[in-house]
Amino acid sequence: MRTARLVVAAALSGALLAPLASAPAAAQSKPGLERLYVLDCGQGRAGDQSRWSPGVNAGVSFDMVDSCYLIKHAQGYFLWDTGVTDAVAALPDGQPPANPAMTHWRKPKTLKAQLEQLGVAPADIKYVAVSHTHPDHVGNVEMFPQSMLLVQKAEYEWPSPLGVGRFKPEHPVTKLAGDHDVFGDGSVTIISTPGHTPGHQSLLVKLPKTGALLLSGDAVHFKDNWDNRRIPSQNTDKEKTLASMQRMADLMAQHKAQLWINHDKPQRDGQKLAPEFYE
Ligand SMILES: [Zn+2]
Repeated sequence: MRTARLVVAAALSGALLAPLASAPAAAQSKPGLERLYVLDCGQGRAGDQSRWSPGVNAGVSFDMVDSCYLIKHAQGYFLWDTGVTDAVAALPDGQPPANPAMTHWRKPKTLKAQLEQLGVAPADIKYVAVSHTHPDHVGNVEMFPQSMLLVQKAEYEWPSPLGVGRFKPEHPVTKLAGDHDVFGDGSVTIISTPGHTPGHQSLLVKLPKTGALLLSGDAVHFKDNWDNRRIPSQNTDKEKTLASMQRMADLMAQHKAQLWINHDKPQRDGQKLAPEFYE
């Protein structure tokens, strides 16, 4: 009897210990997505709010921010949007707009300096994705000539007013046709949200502790425009913009995601900026 009991006990303890001793099981419990940094990619003063919010505050100026987001994943770094060009940092009065209704951008901190502070070199960035090709989002794409660009085909091939390509033809690119799971584990997903531009995209990020975030790009510019479904008159397609906003709302409900709006200054004033980070 005693011998039989000992054998059973040994078998049980062996079964319990086996998973703990197994290296692959331990590796699986480590999250692939580690952290997200919010970077200051431009500070602006816009001349006329009604340009973004039709019928609201005509002729009234307001402050705007421009955010970039650096994501650290076990497979490599991913940069979402590249902001206003760092060249603006060297201009004593920033970059005044040609049209005074638009945004006067200043660059108190360069993207380069913020990456340096984190110990991240441009060559360390595996992927660069931009929400769309307006200048305050693609300003520093060529700081990362080796990084794989993740852009919707509809945006890449959208004819530009100057008749030249929106990206350097030699820049490595993956042209997307819809949503894209960047690391293959569902932690970072590009979401197709056309309307502001033909190939506009947003980003769903699932952080291990913070939870799910939906980074808007310019699918919406301010919380008030989101709440009231206001569409800027400059958007290329109003119906597609509305459909994209509804899709975003559905995804937020499905994933219990917070909406982080790229240009919304009051919202970003409440966020931690790099070198602090979200896990
Ligand atoms: Zn834009």
